[in-house]
Parts: sequence; structure tokens; C-alpha cells
Amino acid sequence: MNIVILIKQVPEIALVKVDETANEVVLPQGPGTVNPFDEYAVEEGLRLKEKHGGKCVVISVGTDRTESALRACLALGVDDAYLLSDDKFHGSDPQAIGKILTAGLKKLGDFDIILAGKQAIDSDSAQVPGAVAARLGIPQAMFVKKIEAVEDNKAVVFRTTEEGYDVVEANLPAVFSVVKEINEPRLPSLRGKMTAKKKTITRWNASDLGLDGNDVGAQSGTKVIKVAPPPPRPKGEIIEGETPEEIADKLFQKLRENQVI
Ligand SMILES: Cc1cc2nc3c(=O)[nH]c(=O)nc-3n(C[C@H](O)[C@H](O)[C@H](O)COP(=O)(O)OP(=O)(O)OC[C@H]3O[C@@H](n4cnc5c(N)ncnc54)[C@H](O)[C@@H]3O)c2cc1C
Repeated sequence: MNIVILIKQVPEIALVKVDETANEVVLPQGPGTVNPFDEYAVEEGLRLKEKHGGKCVVISVGTDRTESALRACLALGVDDAYLLSDDKFHGSDPQAIGKILTAGLKKLGDFDIILAGKQAIDSDSAQVPGAVAARLGIPQAMFVKKIEAVEDNKAVVFRTTEEGYDVVEANLPAVFSVVKEINEPRLPSLRGKMTAKKKTITRWNASDLGLDGNDVGAQSGTKVIKVAPPPPRPKGEIIEGETPEEIADKLFQKLRENQVI
């Protein structure tokens, strides 16, 4: 069973700023981290490999800085890491990232299950896993909270819905994005960290992937019209009173006046 996990390196989210003049989101220059939802995908990939054998690898579209996120996955025990990187990819929207990843997956060739996080915590579009499945023409199930069974080239998964969950059977290969209920990610061992430092990360650029730059990077279909920080929250009100009962009473009246209750 060969498993490929899509991982995104995301910035330390608390340090992200908005430059309204340049109409840009200014990302911090630190090493960033693996998108937290992708850590659950990595854990699930490792568990599937431990149960069924085969290979478990990670792949990412990013820059030189993405290497540290890929090494963090190698330290957890994934076999290999692939970085898809090229100046032509700069400015790619989620559909373009899907196109680049699909080219990388086709070059990789041999996979049974592709795992991803349910969404990236910075751009949050939750489009990439579906875009990859659509481009590869293979089944997809999003927001998976359990991989129940994998056998005979089929997988049965529990897909989270607003009401509960659906039980879905998919032919393999398939793409599954996962939610954090699926498992408890492991921590890297010291030995894993040492091994990860020495591993070679395979890098493929646009020409390695047979991409001419059309529909990716600056040629993406989406254009950002305006970037602005969210408006500041209005100041709250502190309700004063001599006793908790008096404060509760005043709060009750206020909620009534505002037709909240
Ligand atoms: C017009 C436009 C220009 C942009 N320009 C840039 C830019 O110059 N630089 C930049 O960093 N971002 C840029 N972005 C943001 C970038 O497109 C998204 O971060 C990216 O497409 C992934 O979308 P998402 O973060 O919403 O991922 P989601 O779809 O929310 O992610 C879901 C899952 O997909 C997988 N995944 C997502 N992204 C990747 C990835 N890169 N590699 C591997 N797996 C992945 C992960 O498993 C992740 O958990 C731009 C966006 C737009 C619309």
C-alpha cells in the first residue's frame, strides 16, 4: 500500500500582518510549521503503512523554507519527501496548487491513498484535496474522521457531516482529507530527528513536472482585488452591581431589551 500525504507549510499564524497599501498579506519570515491538520494526515498515513506495509511519502508545493516542514514529517517516520518548487509557482491560487500537485503525483506514479488535511489554517479554502482528486479523476471523501477498512482495492471511511457522519466506500486510489478526530499524532523521536537531517529531499521544478507556467503562479484564475484586516471588535460592556444576583438581573434585562432572549 503506497500512501502520499499532501502537506503545506504554514506561517506562525499569530505573526501574520496585513499591508493595506501594498494590498498584501505579510507573512513572518520564520521557518513556519506543518499545517496542523496535515499532522493528522501524516499520522494516519504512518498507521496505514504500519498495518498494510508499503511506502508513505510526503509532497508539498512551496519554497526553500518548506524543507523544514518536510523534514519534520521525515522525523516522524515517513520514507521520502518531495518539494515542488519554482519561481513560476509564485502567486498560485488553490486550483493552481492542485494542478502542480497533480503533476507531482503523476510523476510519483504509484499510490493507493492520498491523504490531506481538511484545510490549511492560513488560506483556509479547503479546495486543494478536491482539486487534486478531480484532476486525477479518482474518488474523493473529505473531512474523514475514520478509515474503517482498507482491502481489495477499496476503502471504507467515515466522512463527517453537519448531522453526524456518512459511511463511504471508495475504490482506490482515492483522496481523503482528514479532521483532527481521526487520531492522536505522535511526537518525533530523537533518532527520527537525526535521520531526517541526513535525508535528501527530492526537488522538482516546473520543467521536471512538464508544466509550462500556464494556469499556475501569476497565470492563476483568481485575482486578489483587495486585502484588509478584519475590523476591530467593538468594546464590550462590563455590567456593575453589588451582588451576583443584581448583575445577573441587569444582564437579563439588557438581553431582553436587545431581543436576544
Ligand atoms: C490569487 C492568489 C495568489 C496567491 N499567491 C500566493 C503566493 O504567492 N504564495 C503563497 O504561499 N500562497 C499564495 N496564495 C495562497 C495559496 O493559493 C493557497 O495557500 C494554496 O493554494 C492552498 O490553498 P489553501 O491554503 O486554502 O489550502 P486548503 O485547500 O485549505 O488545504 C487543504 C489541504 O490541502 C493540502 N495543501 C494545501 N496547500 C498545499 C501545498 N502548497 N502543498 C501541498 N499540499 C497542500 C494540505 O493537505 C492541506 O491541509 C495565493 C492565493 C490566491 C487566491
